[in-house]
Formats: sequence, structure tokens, C-alpha cells
Amino acid sequence: MGGGAAGFFLSARLKRLLPEARVVLFERSSRVLAKVKVSGGGRCNLTNSFAGVSDLCHVYPRGHKLMKRLLREFSHEDAYCWFETHGVPLTTQEDECVFPQSQNSESVILCLKREAESAGVEIRTGCPVQSIERSDNGGLQLVFDGGATTPCLFDRVALTTGGAPRGEGHDWLSALGHKIEKPCPSLYTFNINTPALTSLMGIVVENVSVGIAATKFRAEGALLITHWGVSGPAILRLSSYAARYMDEQAYEVPLLINWTGETNVEQVAQELRNLQNEAPRRQLGNLHPFGLQNRLWVYLLERAGLTSEKPCGELGSKGINRLVHVLTSDSYAVAGKGAYRDEFVTCGGVSLESVSMRTLESKSCPGLYFAGEVLDIDAVTGGFNFQAAWTTAYVAAGAIAASLEN
Ligand SMILES: Cc1cc2nc3c(=O)[nH]c(=O)nc-3n(C[C@H](O)[C@H](O)[C@H](O)COP(=O)(O)OP(=O)(O)OC[C@H]3O[C@@H](n4cnc5c(N)ncnc54)[C@H](O)[C@@H]3O)c2cc1C
Repeated sequence: MGGGAAGFFLSARLKRLLPEARVVLFERSSRVLAKVKVSGGGRCNLTNSFAGVSDLCHVYPRGHKLMKRLLREFSHEDAYCWFETHGVPLTTQEDECVFPQSQNSESVILCLKREAESAGVEIRTGCPVQSIERSDNGGLQLVFDGGATTPCLFDRVALTTGGAPRGEGHDWLSALGHKIEKPCPSLYTFNINTPALTSLMGIVVENVSVGIAATKFRAEGALLITHWGVSGPAILRLSSYAARYMDEQAYEVPLLINWTGETNVEQVAQELRNLQNEAPRRQLGNLHPFGLQNRLWVYLLERAGLTSEKPCGELGSKGINRLVHVLTSDSYAVAGKGAYRDEFVTCGGVSLESVSMRTLESKSCPGLYFAGEVLDIDAVTGGFNFQAAWTTAYVAAGAIAASLEN
């Protein structure tokens, strides 16, 4: 159920493993693989080299334990190799994100479609599955919205319906005994109503550290000032780490920005003192500490109550303290999440407690399997979400095939 990344990968693999089985992929809309199409800005960041990943919990805030286990069966290297051997040459960017060499998601779509069709998967679009019921003979009956005309009794069903930030389709899953982790959005930008900040739109600070005050949520990376607030990898990462908390707080939280990326506050103070000693008569506005762009630096001076014209030597320890505070703990009230949706995933979904860690089969409804974003697994940006789709689909397909062979 669900003709997205996970659904295609799973059904194609299953049909290859069990050529004699009838494998049908039902998609509710008229178009399959719609998210693959728009992913990665139309280029599809389909996995990551994982070279910069020291611990999976940094990239999979939800589901890292399960991913650790499942990646042993189908890793990013396996995904890389799979796509290359199925006619999609890939390239790994400097930031470790993997894209098709064509820089066009269409290559991935064509590959998945070709693979499913050549394996013999029947693809049915315009088939919105409403629920599943267990039939008297032990099979699983698909119930379609608006009544079905298709024969729809199956021995096994895989649910690959993707994320549902408003919990669509979760009622019947709960009724079948599955625990649902409350869904909420992840990977979004922050709105900030501070005109002096947003007037700096377009400025990118390469290495900031951001966090939510009075919590442990912190993230690092580049930050982009936008006309509505802040964006960029550091903010998207923070939105992912704090997805549930932010939802509970109705997206109104105090955001802390360390513009220097230097977490040692004393180090920041020392650097300012050094500048002061080196050129006491130089005006503050003419300094370029921490690689900050001049417009941003002048703005931060103003936030610290200092004028650009003030000579460095007149900063005094109070001035240094105020400046250090603004540089390392600049605080803004987040006023909602941004509407900009470059990448957007659902945090929550079918609880991992409700599925077998080994097979991804439902614990309460034998014969029903899960893969992809419908599960309570989600990642930061960088190709990790698609990797979760490939990996879980691979494992579920293998488990379904094994269960039918036995
Ligand atoms: C704009 C955008 C860009 C992204 N870019 C990237 C990226 O570059 N790299 C990355 O790793 N991740 C990216 N993601 C995340 C990634 O797209 C998802 O994590 C991934 O698509 C999940 O795959 P899936 O198959 O589980 O779900 P989906 O791709 O959402 O597919 C689910 C399918 O099921 C269908 N469906 C739903 N309900 C039913 C039903 N009841 N009956 C029948 N069919 C149903 C849906 O119509 C859909 O086609 C992006 C997401 C967005 C929104």
C-alpha cells in the first residue's frame, strides 16, 4: 500500500525474491513516486556516505536503534551499489550527500519504475486504501475508499503509505492494536519577528551553534537569515531533534544562537581581548571577528549596546561581557514554523514497539508489514530519510518472502 520510495523498492524486491507470487502495488493518487520527484530540490538526495556520522542518533533522532540493526542488512553502501547496478550512476558531494550523476530525480523514478515493472509488479494508481480487515480464512482484505472493484484479498500486506503529520489513516491501525506515536512535522525553518534580524536576509553564517533555551536541544552547522526568520542546516537539524518538544510548545520557543560556533565562552572573550590589545584605536565596526560578515557584526554590536565607531580600547570588561553574551547566547522568540518546505518529514507514526525489530511485521496483526516513513523513524536532511525507506523496504520484503517460503 503506497507507491512511494519504500513501496516501489519493497514490491520490486519481493517480486524478484518470489517470482511466482502476485505482487500488487496500490497508490492512492494518480502519480507514483511524487516525493522522489521533488526531493532534494528535484535532484533526489537518495542516500549519504555516512562518513561524517559518528553515532546514528545524530542523524536518526527517532529510530536510530532499529536503523543500526537494519543497516547491517542493507546499508548505504548497498543502496549505492543497488542504484549503480540498476542504471543510476551516482555522485557523492563534498557534504557526503549522494545524488544521481544526472542531478535529476527523474533518473531515480525511471529506475524504480523500470525495476518494478520488469520484475512483474502490478501497479494500480487511483486506489486509496481505507483500511485492512482480517478475513475469515486468515488473509488480509484491503478496503478501498469509495468501494473496491479489484479483488483484494492478500496473504501479506506491506504498509508503505509514508508520513502522516495529521495522523491520517492511523485510526484503523490503532484499532488493529498498533501503538501510534503522535505525529508531528519535522525539518522546518523558524519564524522570527525581529525586523532588524530579518533585514539581514541572505546572510549565511557557516558555523553556528543553535539551541532551545532551558532544554538540551542543540545543533550545529550553517545558518541562513531569511526574510521570515532563520533557516539552513543548523535550524533544520534543530527542528528535527526538537520536533516533539516544539510541537508541544506550539512552535513558540526561545531560540539561542551562538554566532561564533565556539562553545568555549572564555575563548570568545579572549579573542575579543586580543583584538582590543592589538589595535586599541581601531573602531569596533571595522573588526571582522569570527569570520562574521560586516552587516551582521554591526547588527550584533548594536544588540550589545555598542556603536560601530567606538574604539576597541574603550570596550572595557563590561563591553566585552555584553558582546560575548550576544555573540554566544543571542536569544530570539520563535513565532511559529516556516512554510518553506524544501524537505519535510513526519516525526512519529507506527510505534517501533508494535513491530518486530527483525522482520518489521506487526506484532498485533500477523501478515502486515511496515516500511518507510509510516514507521516512527525519521532523520535529519542529507539522504538519511530515503536510506531509511530503502533499508526498511529491503528488510520487510526479505521477511515477507521468507515467511511465504516456509
Ligand atoms: C519536498 C521534500 C523533499 C525531500 N527531499 C529528500 C531528499 O532529498 N532526501 C531524503 O532522504 N529525503 C527527502 N525527503 C523525505 C523523503 O521524501 C521521504 O522520507 C520518503 O519519500 C519516504 O518514503 P515513503 O515511501 O515511506 O513515503 P512516500 O514517499 O510519502 O510515499 C507514500 C505513498 O503512499 C501513498 N499513499 C498514502 N496513503 C495511501 C493509501 N491510503 N492508499 C494508497 N496509497 C497511499 C502516497 O500517495 C505516496 O505515494 C523529502 C521530502 C519532501 C516532502
